[in-house]
This record gives sequence, structure tokens and C-alpha cells, in this order.
Amino acid sequence: MNCPFLRETKVRFCQNAPSRKLIPRAADALSEERCSSASFAGCPIYRDHGEQQQSAPPCPYLHESLMQYCAASPVTRFVPYSEAMLSRCGSEAYHYCDLYLELTHAGWPAHPSDSIAVEPGLFYTNNHCWLDLPESGPCHIGIDAFLARLLGEVTHIDYGALRGLVRPIALLKVDDASWQVTFPEKIELTGCNLYLRSDPQRLTAEPYTQGWLFEGSVPAETAARLRAQLATGEAAHAWMDSETRRLNEQIQQLTAVAADGGLFAPGLLSALDREDALVVFQEFCSPRYPEGRNA
Ligand code: SF4
Repeated sequence: MNCPFLRETKVRFCQNAPSRKLIPRAADALSEERCSSASFAGCPIYRDHGEQQQSAPPCPYLHESLMQYCAASPVTRFVPYSEAMLSRCGSEAYHYCDLYLELTHAGWPAHPSDSIAVEPGLFYTNNHCWLDLPESGPCHIGIDAFLARLLGEVTHIDYGALRGLVRPIALLKVDDASWQVTFPEKIELTGCNLYLRSDPQRLTAEPYTQGWLFEGSVPAETAARLRAQLATGEAAHAWMDSETRRLNEQIQQLTAVAADGGLFAPGLLSALDREDALVVFQEFCSPRYPEGRNA
């Protein structure tokens, strides 16, 4: 599905003009336009390239092509039809476009304050990453709301590889501690959300939308396996609730303080002793690989 702001139009241009100016085709203006009327014969560019002599309009150097553009952008930039279809605008990936999110206010919806938010259409790994895996177009990966709440305010983000067939890695800094988030499957990584480097708080404020981390494609065989293996929908809700209970129990064991059974405090990792924080992160957020696969 295309972005609702993606439009297509035919543009016309002179193949001999020193700079290519694209003119959107407006049918009612054609009769007045020099290139489409008999007055093209007086155009100096036509006369300088007189090898194709003809007297009937339109000018033989006038060309037309199909382009797409973003109707939401303040500056119209035409993109060839085939190119746009390969981009974020021509696939489900438009859901991660900042412009789309800002204009539609399609950020993270309100959710009950006594549970961890779960986006039903996403797949969740056991180390609290999410994967958006549409049938066509690029996939997106981020951290879920559980990990976002554990971390609290992230102040700096670094990425491992920016491209290639890898398990994508992000290094997140919170206060003086650094936490490595690894997506546990290899994907063909095509991009990272570099905007988060200048606004890292987005990562935990909008973990399912503007806080996405990685973009890429999942090999077909891996995609089929992940769709079958990873929690999604109602199962993801139930798993997230059980993770919350398990965390409360672990905190109780580590600190010998009885948990009240509610939702853990935002930024919990920073509130714990370093050693306890490492134990919690290792238990809940380190990737676990099925036996027999290389880590
Ligand atoms: S730039 Fe963003 S808002 Fe505009 S068409 Fe593409 S995805 Fe949609």
C-alpha cells in the first residue's frame, strides 16, 4: 500500500534545455504553452537544434514522463515513477516517515498506564525488540515499550554496521551506562534511523513509530520462520504481561524488597546497582539464539 500523500503526475520537459525544468502537465494550459502550440518554431532552443524540422506542434524536443511526488512536502520534488515505487513512499514503510507521522499525528497511541503497550501488528523477539515484517517493502526494527521503560531516558545512540547482512546492533547510553541492543536474526540492513542521534529521546518516547532503529529486508526463509516463531497479537500481550511479572519477581529477589505487583518504574536500570542492572539486562534483553546457530 502506498502512502496516502503520494501523488502521480505527468511532467513535461525540453530535452535540449541547458537545465531540465519539469513542468506538471495541466491539460487546459497546453494550448497556451509555447512548446505545445505553433509558436514553438520561434523558440531559440528549437532553432539552435534544428535537425528535426517540423512545422506542426508540439515541439519535437518536448518530452513527457510519469513522476510521483509527496503532496505533504513543502517543496515538490518529482521522482521517476519506478524509483518512488521502490522507496518508503511506495510501500507500507511510509508508516515510519517523519513527515507522514507529523501530519497524521499517527504517533504512539494512548495506552493503559498499568500495562506495557503492545502494537498488535508487530512481531516481538524474546530480548524485547520488535519487527515490522510486511509482505512487501522494507522491514523495520526497534525496541519494545518494555525495554523502553527499563531504559528510561537515552542520551546517546551509536550503531554497529550501517549496512550489510548482519545482526543489527545499537549501543544506547543512559546516564553513565551503555547498553547493547542486538536484533537476534541476520537481516540485510539497508539503513539505521540516524535522526535518533540528534534526538535520542524519541527512541523511548515513541518506540513503535519515530523511535525505530533499523530498516532492511529479511531473507524469505527467515521471514517465514520468524512469522511462525515470534509472538504477535494477543500472544504478545500475554507474553508482555508475563515478562512484567517475571521482572517484578527478579527485582524482589535481587533487592529483597517486596514488589507491589504493579508496573516497574521508568528508568529502572539506572535505579538499580550496576551489578543488579547487568543481571536484569542479561536476563531480559540479551539475544538468545536457538541451539546450533552461530551467535
Ligand atoms: S515523503 Fe513521507 S509523507 Fe511524503 S509521500 Fe513519502 S512517505 Fe508519504
